[in-house]
Amino acid sequence: MKNILDVRFPEELNSQNLVRVNCPICRENGQSHYSMKINDINLGLQYCDRDDLWWVSPRPNKDFYSALYTKYFYNSPCPNQFGYANYEEDGERRSQKAIKNIEDFVPFVSDLAKESLLEIGCATGELLIEAAKFGWKELCGVEIDPKCCETCRDKKINIYEGFFEDINFNNKKFKSIFADNVFEHVLNPDLFMEKCSSLQDEGDFLIYRLPETEQPGPRLKLVDHTYHYTRKSIKRIFEKYNYAVKEILYTGTYTSDDGENRIINMTVIGVKNGNN
Ligand SMILES: [Zn+2]
Repeated sequence: MKNILDVRFPEELNSQNLVRVNCPICRENGQSHYSMKINDINLGLQYCDRDDLWWVSPRPNKDFYSALYTKYFYNSPCPNQFGYANYEEDGERRSQKAIKNIEDFVPFVSDLAKESLLEIGCATGELLIEAAKFGWKELCGVEIDPKCCETCRDKKINIYEGFFEDINFNNKKFKSIFADNVFEHVLNPDLFMEKCSSLQDEGDFLIYRLPETEQPGPRLKLVDHTYHYTRKSIKRIFEKYNYAVKEILYTGTYTSDDGENRIINMTVIGVKNGNN
């Protein structure tokens, strides 16, 4: 089997810490397509042809990913396959990206959606700040990186620190939820979708920006992207959790440093159905 990843992290990983996961849509174990290695430990990339989805299995457990996210995400030894070499210090550039993200989805949401917005993975909060200028009223963010959370607090942003799935929102609900380049990192898409659904009512908007995987499968971000979706598989998982997909937009292409690989991004706009 072709090996498509061989990287090292200064963090302990052994074969006892691996977990096997099935397709989150049909629950089957899929077909083994590629092998991958982290710290010389063998992992795999599975594919479900029925749902058109790739995912990492076996993969490291949550403890390993937590260590990676809190220590190396903005300080990565292999940025093509995990996180970033350094944090983008240019706040102006981050604000411009945030404006572009909002401009992409704002024509498709109702005025009611602007009552409240939760951004999952808000980093240093630029999108939340820009959303207020587009008319959003109540704004909240969730972020796992402690330094980013500190910056958000300095900016007086209402921030929840930690994994989204673990946070207690005290029965709060959100008319819109947005996540940019987050859902492909999630360890348990079912828990994540259930959590989103529990925070929304009929007619509310769930918006993800994420990579649109091309055939014959992913080549970049093979460590942190635990699932690699296509238009077909993302639509199926939205529908599984009672969201109708209103629109899927093309929202930009990222090219690797060597120019050999690329990631196409899509923005998926879902609306929660009534019968839950
Ligand atoms: Zn499947």
